[in-house]
Amino acid sequence: MEKKYYPTIGLEIHAELKTQTKMFCSCKNDPDEEKPNVNVCPVCMAHPGTLPVINKKAIENVIKVGLAIGGTIADFTEFDRKNYFYPDIPKGYQISQYKYPIVSGGKLADFDVTRVHLEEDTANNKHDRGDFSLIDFNRAGVPLMELVTEPVTFEDADKAAKSASSFAKELQLILWYLGVSEANMEKGEMRVEANISVSPDKNKLGTKVEVKNLNSFKSVEKAIKFELDRMIELHENGKGEEIVQETRGWDESKQKTFSQRKKESSHDYRYFPEPDLPKMKLHEAFDLEKMEKELPELPLEKRLRYKNDFGIKDEDIESYINDKELGIWFEEVAKLLGNVDKIKIASNYITSDYMGLKKNNLEVLPPSVKNFAELINLIAENKISSRVAKDILAIIVLKDGSPLQIAGDKGLLQKNDEGEVKAIVQKIIGENPEVVATYKAGKENAIMSLVGKVIKESKGSANPQIVIKMLKDLLK
Ligand code: ZN
Ligand code: MN
Repeated sequence: MEKKYYPTIGLEIHAELKTQTKMFCSCKNDPDEEKPNVNVCPVCMAHPGTLPVINKKAIENVIKVGLAIGGTIADFTEFDRKNYFYPDIPKGYQISQYKYPIVSGGKLADFDVTRVHLEEDTANNKHDRGDFSLIDFNRAGVPLMELVTEPVTFEDADKAAKSASSFAKELQLILWYLGVSEANMEKGEMRVEANISVSPDKNKLGTKVEVKNLNSFKSVEKAIKFELDRMIELHENGKGEEIVQETRGWDESKQKTFSQRKKESSHDYRYFPEPDLPKMKLHEAFDLEKMEKELPELPLEKRLRYKNDFGIKDEDIESYINDKELGIWFEEVAKLLGNVDKIKIASNYITSDYMGLKKNNLEVLPPSVKNFAELINLIAENKISSRVAKDILAIIVLKDGSPLQIAGDKGLLQKNDEGEVKAIVQKIIGENPEVVATYKAGKENAIMSLVGKVIKESKGSANPQIVIKMLKDLLK
């Protein structure tokens, strides 16, 4: 029997904060600037003799994150120098935080949060232009939040990989809801690192490997799964000791992790308090109670409210959680409809039909709340068939209009008027003697082909129930 291994995962996530200016100077913080070395000054270029000044907004953003995850906001906090040499940080150190992070503790998804601190982002190295390297300082000094979680031990590799990826997704949502970061992983605005180990003994940790370069939620999941499988296989082959503490990268094209360097430990960085910046008393500098009261509704609260108020499916709720604008529009539609059954119909049409149309055509936009609610009312009151409803929806997402008027103009309102439907039914019976004969010979299913023809002839406006009843009566 195969032995059981327990994976343990800890996460470190960096996110660039959305502020007007950089962390310690007044240069513009613009992640979309494509021209290199535009948003730079002597401070963020690390010229000697320059002095940093703290960006209060960046501190405020980290405090908001701390409040949102139920962490403790430090009373005393300070910045430290993290010393290391690399061309993207020409000062020879990164201003970061060590002993006194802004936030300690907190909880999100399956992970306990250890700390959230603030630091400066580095410049961007470009190694891909030839046999030389270029450095772009637009990113140097951009406020960077770092969140570290406690290690969590899981029952199996799949669960561990999925859980890490959903943690990252949930954090991205919180950053969006708080408006503190765009947290776009593909653009490097949010960067995930995972500390990974496996052990055959649930109470003893294995050797830890750190995996970097994870720039999508999918790659977080795949890289962790790959790395755990690699480690488990080494154990299985009696080569457990070949697992060494190191940093590994994720190669997206090969779908593999690869060794990058042996890991430094924190004393290599010679951390010490940054002498050029003042210490901070956050409880004096900020009204934390007020900030907590003014937090926006967060994803978790929104999920509960949508469930309680509208009783819609969990996957529908996730669609609105992920697309806040769509959620707001749905809520307005729901308010106007004011009836749980109609709201459920509306949500179905939004998450399946509307989102389907949107996926195939970027010009698709939500129609006005009034017109969309009108469409749902027509469906709920049986005035149009679902086929007609879909056709009308496809029209009004491109050019907003009144569904009632469109249905009226095109003669698509459900014909519940027996006389009109009867004329069509008689016509179809007359035109299809063979089908009629088959039905009369005992093949009851044959009637469905006649129903289809009647509905088509009525351009979808005949009510199928009425058509069936009428056909049966007439063919007795
Ligand atoms: Zn600057
Ligand atoms: Mn960091």
